[in-house]
Amino acid sequence: MSSTKDIDALIELMAKLPGLGPRSARRAVLHLIRKRALLFTPLADLMGDVARAARECLNCGNVGTTDVCDICTSEKRGNGQLCVVEDVADLWAMERAGVFKGRYHVLGGTLSALDAVGPDELRIPKLIDRVTSEEITEVILALNATIDGQTTAHYIADQLDGQVTLTSLAQGVPIGGELDYLDDGTITAALNARKAL
Ligand SMILES: [Zn+2]
Repeated sequence: MSSTKDIDALIELMAKLPGLGPRSARRAVLHLIRKRALLFTPLADLMGDVARAARECLNCGNVGTTDVCDICTSEKRGNGQLCVVEDVADLWAMERAGVFKGRYHVLGGTLSALDAVGPDELRIPKLIDRVTSEEITEVILALNATIDGQTTAHYIADQLDGQVTLTSLAQGVPIGGELDYLDDGTITAALNARKAL
């Protein structure tokens, strides 16, 4: 048996991570081995813990380590505003910008006739429930400027018509752009200049 078999396997797994290729993975693994006590062991322990505990929030779809996430349980975030995003990465991008003080709803994708994704495959029924049960006054649609994103925004707007104020993020979100790729200032500007639908 080769003495580097497990290390090779580790490099191969690391190389599958977004942003890493085989070369970066080799460098990362070598770095971890050299920083065993300071980095490697704590990282490995934490990865094991998170791998076991990570789950989707039953209310909004955010990813955390409890059944209902901190944003959903925080009284302070219950200000009547609900921001609808496609993906958890978009929620994290909005939080990084630090400008939005309400709660979120993660759809888990967009409607797509081509891929046979309908409203029930996304968290749209749950969204409609929450608007009533959490006394939501404004729904902010922060969906990507793709065709599927905009189709989904129109579908949700139709479903909620007359029940709440509906707004969407303003110009600044590039066509086909994802929130996760925007800098914090652009997200802040797009939220502050949001427009009524
Ligand atoms: Zn939540």
